[in-house]
Amino acid sequence: MRIDILTLFPSVFESPFAHGVVGRAIARGLLTVAPLDIRAFATDKHHSVDDYPYGGGAGMVMMPGPLFDAVASLALPEGTPLILMTPQGRPFSQGVAQELAAHERLVLLCGHYEGVDERVRTRLATDEISIGDYVLSGGEIPAMVVSDAVTRLLPGAMDEESGREESHAAGLLEYPQYTRPASYRGLEVPPILLSGNHAAVARWRREQALRRTLERRPELLERAELTDKERALVREWQQGDAPP
Ligand code: SAH
Repeated sequence: MRIDILTLFPSVFESPFAHGVVGRAIARGLLTVAPLDIRAFATDKHHSVDDYPYGGGAGMVMMPGPLFDAVASLALPEGTPLILMTPQGRPFSQGVAQELAAHERLVLLCGHYEGVDERVRTRLATDEISIGDYVLSGGEIPAMVVSDAVTRLLPGAMDEESGREESHAAGLLEYPQYTRPASYRGLEVPPILLSGNHAAVARWRREQALRRTLERRPELLERAELTDKERALVREWQQGDAPP
């Protein structure tokens, strides 16, 4: 996969993509991340990329010219998603990450100041994504969030197992994880995890994932894939007075 990132600050992407899963995906040749400096497409002698909003008001707006020219320079294949990062976009989720991971190429457009000229949104972008209901000062961190979540889903980026069981992968939160030592400050690891009984461990984990999701994010259970037996179990927990 190739991710082109249109940004006013290309250097901020150096360190976040140098480590861990994303760094490894790049080293393995599974991923290319290519920040593109929008300012290189400015046409006046001050290299302006933003201007005052028509109609007045606070702040600056990113001009359409440099953004349209930057995108043209990429000579994108037909159908490449061109995603504007904006708090007004559709909410980002594991499902959206899965959808994007199916593409060979993505373009992420990072706004700054008060955002971008509306014509960029209506004529250049093919998609708009928000990483949450809060406002950041720029689209770079959202672009990192999207790139990271998508990269973890590329075949070969992580070992298959860990991706399958993770929070949100099957619509549930993940079960609790423990590592050595088995006893730490008098706090014991649940004995079943030390039992070597793989089937029992799998059952325990599934139940924990269900309980956790019910406690913390009950709305996720409505769309999660549960067996009839699991649905019945959850109903039982919901009806019980004591928390599960
Ligand atoms: N005035 C705009 C917000 C501009 S914030 C409005 O009210 O909609 C500046 C830039 O930061 C945006 O152009 C966008 O690229 C990025 N940004 C801020 N918050 C974001 C979020 N929650 N998700 C995605 N991008 C965001």
